[in-house]
Amino acid sequence: LMPLPVVAIVGRPNVGKSSLFNWLAGRRISIVDPTAGVTRDRLSTVVQADGRPFELVDTGGMGIQDKDNLTEDVERQIAYAIESASVVLFIVDVRDGLVPLDQDVAARLRRANKPVVFVANKTDDPKFLPGAADFYSLGFGEPLCVSANQLLGKDDLLGRILEH
Ligand code: GDP
Ligand code: MG
Repeated sequence: LMPLPVVAIVGRPNVGKSSLFNWLAGRRISIVDPTAGVTRDRLSTVVQADGRPFELVDTGGMGIQDKDNLTEDVERQIAYAIESASVVLFIVDVRDGLVPLDQDVAARLRRANKPVVFVANKTDDPKFLPGAADFYSLGFGEPLCVSANQLLGKDDLLGRILEH
């Protein structure tokens, strides 16, 4: 049996990776939490888009600092997810705008040399669209604006994934 292609969701804590994961999975598997750094395990599920299955992997946020000292383990999980991925979904938060941790994630993804689908989540309203221009400087082009909470942009996002 051929292993399914892996699509890994990465980004700094709290951008909505787990929300996107659950949305694309069509059910609640990953824990969504307003507290940064909640997803510590590497979670995966099979998603079918246009009859084409892939394995979607959620990861804990990069650059987590917490007293449990799980950072190293989380970082290892992320490194593994990126390494095993055919496509990486790089998630940023259009409401927060560009923050230094996004630059750290971008630097890491440049080194990984994998196809990246660049996604600006939390575009709950068209008024946030112009803010997406902030993210051009990361070097991944124009992000696809979506909202996991408002369920906006899913077909476009799945289309971009399938292109790769
Ligand atoms: P993760 O740390 O990247 O996995 O982020 P989570 O999925 O746990 O979400 C972090 C917070 O952002 C939670 O409070 C979510 O409800 C919120 N969130 C996720 N997606 C959206 C969105 O599209 N719009 C808004 N306004 N909030 C969102
Ligand atoms: Mg999470």
